[in-house]
Amino acid sequence: MTQSSTRRPPVSRSGFDQVSVYDGDTGLCAIDLSDNTNLWGVPPSALRALERFSFADTRRYPPAYSAELKDSLARYTGVDPSMVVTGCGSDDVLDAAIRAFGNHQGTLTCCDPTFSMIPVLARINGVDVLSKPFDADGDIPVDEMLSARSDIIYVCSPNNPTGSSAAIERIRSIADQFDGLVIVDCAYAEYSCTSITPLVESCSNVLITRTMSKAFGLAGLRVGYGLGNPSIVCEVEKSRGPYKVNAFAGVAAIAAIENDLPWVEATVAEMLVNRSRLVSRLEKLGASPIRSDGNFILLPLSDAVEVSKRMFETGVAVRAFANLAGIGPALRITIGPWEMMDAFLTAFEKSVS
Ligand SMILES: *Cc1c(COP(=O)(O)O)cnc(C)c1O
Repeated sequence: MTQSSTRRPPVSRSGFDQVSVYDGDTGLCAIDLSDNTNLWGVPPSALRALERFSFADTRRYPPAYSAELKDSLARYTGVDPSMVVTGCGSDDVLDAAIRAFGNHQGTLTCCDPTFSMIPVLARINGVDVLSKPFDADGDIPVDEMLSARSDIIYVCSPNNPTGSSAAIERIRSIADQFDGLVIVDCAYAEYSCTSITPLVESCSNVLITRTMSKAFGLAGLRVGYGLGNPSIVCEVEKSRGPYKVNAFAGVAAIAAIENDLPWVEATVAEMLVNRSRLVSRLEKLGASPIRSDGNFILLPLSDAVEVSKRMFETGVAVRAFANLAGIGPALRITIGPWEMMDAFLTAFEKSVS
């Protein structure tokens, strides 16, 4: 044994001690309704692009900042390509944005409960999190979020895990009165009827983040993006670094945006039908799911954790939360084809006590 192997490994800087490694692998389950991905599968043109991919070209680096993908995303969202930043999932864009605008040791204000990665991404970038309860009507509390005087305000709309949307007037009101960066996480934008995108044209401090992981059915490829003023995009790209969207993922993402919009729209439409059908079935069973604008519903349930474990044994995975602020224990269920919702209902009825 060498001397160095007996020495203790170095300790990471403060902030990291409050973070644990993400426990995302649910384990194998026949029906997985736990992660809000598109349960109708992969869009057909993206799949063909993957099958035709020239693996011999993988010797080369991909485009540094995904110029061609930016062009497609710009056309899809209706902004100029200079207002688009891509990333290895939108987590990567969020991470880079928090690093760039968190001003080293700054703070980020968000609502609680919200996307579970936000406190993690903040802390690993040395940024503290201040969380505020939602208003009684389920919308974001504008004055409370502003009064925290943070460097960044994060709004998730529709919000994961509640499914509630923020009114665009409230987001605009925050942006108008705030000097720092407003991040609006629209991972579920395709499912929601109100588009937030026009905000980035009028508010130079808003960064919208979106993803190919949810409605576009490409979570395994890790492609996300942000929309904002070109100067925000530039700072986020500096912070993100080059080559974050790999060649394989880039080709499939472009094919999906160029050719698979009808597929995306068809699966969104079917999801909407199945979501209201599932909500009414659950209400008939005496349950009270929260009104959702996403491809998932949140169901407050006193023994949510136990129920999810029993459901897992019967082959259906859902996401359980032990104690959400203002809500308590709850199950989050991804909406998919009706056969899966039927299997969910059977497993749920068997598992509730
Ligand atoms: C799923 C999700 C994301 C991110 O996903 P990526 O796969 O990293 O693009 C971001 N925000 C919210 C609210 C999500 O639910």
